Amino acid sequence: MNTPPVPDNVTDSDRHAAAPPRFDADPAFAARMDAADPLRAYRAEFHIPRTAEGDDCLYFCGNSLGLQPVAAREAIEQELRDWAQLGVEGHFRATHPWMSYHEQLAGPVGRFVGALPSEVVTMNTLTVNLHLLMVSFYRPSATRWKIIIEEKAFPSDQYAVASQLHAHGLDPVAGVVEIPLGADGRFSPDAAFETIHRHRDDAALLLLGGVNYYNGQLFDIAAITRAAHEAGIVVGVDCAHAAGNVPLRLHDWDVDFAAWCTYKYLNAGPGSTAGCFVHERHARRDDLPRFAGWWGHDKVTRFEMPPVFRPIVGAEGWQLSNPSIFPLAALRASLALFDQAGMGALRAKSVQLTGYLEFLLLAHASERWSIITPADPSQRGCQLSLRVPAGGRALFDRLAAQGVICDWREPDVIRVAPVPLYNSFEDVRRFAELFHVFFNGQD
Ligand SMILES: *Cc1c(COP(=O)(O)O)cnc(C)c1O
Repeated sequence: MNTPPVPDNVTDSDRHAAAPPRFDADPAFAARMDAADPLRAYRAEFHIPRTAEGDDCLYFCGNSLGLQPVAAREAIEQELRDWAQLGVEGHFRATHPWMSYHEQLAGPVGRFVGALPSEVVTMNTLTVNLHLLMVSFYRPSATRWKIIIEEKAFPSDQYAVASQLHAHGLDPVAGVVEIPLGADGRFSPDAAFETIHRHRDDAALLLLGGVNYYNGQLFDIAAITRAAHEAGIVVGVDCAHAAGNVPLRLHDWDVDFAAWCTYKYLNAGPGSTAGCFVHERHARRDDLPRFAGWWGHDKVTRFEMPPVFRPIVGAEGWQLSNPSIFPLAALRASLALFDQAGMGALRAKSVQLTGYLEFLLLAHASERWSIITPADPSQRGCQLSLRVPAGGRALFDRLAAQGVICDWREPDVIRVAPVPLYNSFEDVRRFAELFHVFFNGQD
C-alpha cells in the first residue's frame, strides 16, 4: 500500500500538543507574542473587515466564513482573462487548464487532510457530497441499518442522515442513534465508544463531525474509527470544522469517507466548492452503488461518450459534473498559503492563541458563564464556545457594536474562533478585555 504524502511538519504529536505555554495577563505579553510569531506576516495576505470608522474588526468567525485571501482576486481574474481570450480552448490552454483543474488541487488538498492525491477530490458542496458518499457507503441490511451521529450534530447532517434512512424506506426517527452530550455541554471521552458498543449489531454507519460545530470539541477520530470498524460499522467524517483547523490523517486513521466545505477555515469564499475523501481501500470497488455522471467516468473514454459508465479509480470516480472554475481559483489561492505556512506551524500557533484566549477569559471567571469547549488542547481546535445562560444575546450585540465579529448560536452560546493565519494575540487580548468590561457592566 502507498503511504500518503503527509508533510513532515505534521506529526501525531500535533494532536497531543505540548503543555500550553505560561501565559501572562500583562497586555505587553500579547505584543511580545505577536512580535515573536513566525506566522505574523500572513495577516497581510487577507482582507480584514473594517468598522464604519475604518478600524480593523476583531474577526473571530473563520469557523463560519474564512476571510478573503488577497490573492483570490488575481486568481479569479486570471480565469476571467483566460475565458475572455481563449473561450472553450481554455479547457486545455488556460494558465491552469480547466480540464485538469481539480487534479491540480489534489496534492495540496491531500496534504492538509492526510490523504493520497487519488483519495481526494474537490467537487459540489458539502451536504451534496455527504449524500453522494452515503449512497455508496450507507448499505443497510435487515438487521444492521441504524446510523450513529453525535447529539446536536449540524442540522444539515441530521437532515441528510434522516433523508437517507427515508430513501431506503426506513424509519428516520428510530434509525438515528445519537452519541449523547453531557450536562456540561461536552461529549465524555467514552461517549462514542459506549454508543458504538451498544449498537455493534444494528448500526451500519457512523457519521461523525470531526470537530463538533457547536462546542468545538475535537473527537479522537482514529480511536473512534477503530472501535466502529471492530463493530462492523462504516465510518464517515464530516470535516467541515476540522479541515484547515486541526491536522488530519484520514488515510492513516482508516476513515472510510469524509467530506468538508472550503469556505470556513479554508478561506475559499462563500459557498465555494467542497472536498471529499474516499479511502484507497474503496478506490476500485465496483460493487458499491453510486450516483454517476460523466465527470466521474474513465478519462480515456469520457469523450467517446460510451453508453456504460466506468468510474475513474479513486475519489474522482464520485464526480458528477465538470467543476466550477471560479470557486476553485479562490481555493487554489488559499491552499497556496496553507502549503507555505504548513499545518504543523499553524496548529502550534492555534494552540497558543486559543490557550491565551481561555487564560484571559478565566482570569475573571464567573458563575454566570462557562466555556463548554474542552480545556485539553488535544480535544479541541481553535474555537471556544462560551455559554452565557442569562444576557448572552445582549452581550453578543454589544460586542458586535464594538466591531467584534463572532457568532451567536441559540439558545445561549457565543462561538469565538481565533484563526492562526490572520488573528493576532492582540486581537485575542482586546476581545477578552471587551468581554469582561461588557460582562461586568451588565449588572
Ligand atoms: C458548515 C457545515 C455544513 C454546511 O453545509 P453546506 O452543504 O456547505 O451548506 C454542513 N455540516 C457541517 C457539520 C457544517 O459545519
